[in-house]
Amino acid sequence: PDRSEVTYFGAGPALLPTPVLEEAAQALLNYQDTGLGVAEHSHRSPLAADIVNQAKADLAVCLDIPDDYEILFMQGGGTGEFSAVVYNFVGAWVARKQKEIFGHVQGKPTDHPELIQKLKQVVDNELKSDYLVTGGWSQKASAEAERLLGSNYVNIAADARKSNGGKFGVIPDESDWKLSKDAAFVYFCSNETVDGVEFPTAFPKSLEPGPDGKGPIVVADMSSNILTRKIPVKKFSAIFFGAQKNLGPAGVTVVIIKKSFLPQPSADLMRQLGLPIPPIIFQYEAIAKNNSLYNTLSIFDVFIIGRVLSKLLQTYPDKLDGQQAISDKKAQLIYDAIEAFPEAYRVIPSKEVRSRVNICFRVTKGGDVDAAEKAFLAEASSQGLTGLKGHRSLGGIRASNYNSIPLEGAEKLAKFIRAFATS
Ligand code: PLP
Repeated sequence: PDRSEVTYFGAGPALLPTPVLEEAAQALLNYQDTGLGVAEHSHRSPLAADIVNQAKADLAVCLDIPDDYEILFMQGGGTGEFSAVVYNFVGAWVARKQKEIFGHVQGKPTDHPELIQKLKQVVDNELKSDYLVTGGWSQKASAEAERLLGSNYVNIAADARKSNGGKFGVIPDESDWKLSKDAAFVYFCSNETVDGVEFPTAFPKSLEPGPDGKGPIVVADMSSNILTRKIPVKKFSAIFFGAQKNLGPAGVTVVIIKKSFLPQPSADLMRQLGLPIPPIIFQYEAIAKNNSLYNTLSIFDVFIIGRVLSKLLQTYPDKLDGQQAISDKKAQLIYDAIEAFPEAYRVIPSKEVRSRVNICFRVTKGGDVDAAEKAFLAEASSQGLTGLKGHRSLGGIRASNYNSIPLEGAEKLAKFIRAFATS
């Protein structure tokens, strides 16, 4: 079929807007009349720097990113960030403690073994990274922290499975979160792509700063819901997301980080404290100092990201209010269709936390769920509605409602859901 006949609801990589791909196809052959394609120009060329800077500027407008934040384009995917967050935020925590303990002593830290000993005690007694485990992706992130640091430095502040019969699908009540006193960071995944669970508000209430303006250091994975709703960037210490769902092709991961968290202790000191040292390409400070061009970045991917952002700004110049309204409306259309037929469908996660972006449900029509889901997928596919099979760990159906799904695509799916229930 032609791509115009297909609405693809896959969880990622996702659909890209056809006009962007048409422009990209041309740019791959000859970019700005240089006789070279955009993927062939050096990442050190002024042309590449322009592409990077424009994409950063447009992202800053879309998300209202304050000046004291840095935008980084990295590689290694969301999974790479599970590790990078640990290295960099533990490093930033140690840098703070080092300052407290060392004050203004002269020389290298390694000239002061007694102070290093004191710092090591603080690390042993106080270092914690807090994780809110609400689905498969935050679970993987917390497992990576345990692998890199050892589980004594990782605090699972909440685990949704504990209050939901061993399964994901809820977000534990905030009053039950067991946050550490001075954690290196509190980590959560804003939208769990596999489990269809999304934090209902963009920033959890109990992570808000207190009356003294001080609050926890909050890091969020927004891989699957970035640019689908407004977010208060200034409340986060870092946000990361892979490009491949709402921004561009797989290959670039974006990190937005408050600049004050960039400085890192020396590798020597971290080694003496028994803490892990990142490969240099995962060190935010090094990437920031080099405007994301520390090593060869896929400029082609950033070019596409730039085109998607520029199109988003043209369509919704109001910094995501418009995009959020459309995302909500599309999700509502699909959920309304599912809920209109309780004998034929069942939404998997609980209603208060169900995702607007990854809509996960079972087809219970007729009692034989397996057969009903097979029939649902086959009939949907014959009508050009594809990519609907749920993740293997959850089963069922998953409709991923990313920004490139047009309103008409959501309407078509909602209509199909209604028709299948009554067929
Ligand atoms: N975090 C979330 C929420 C995701 O949905 C995914 C992938 O789908 C990842 C992290 C992992 O990303 P990657 O495959 O780029 O490593």
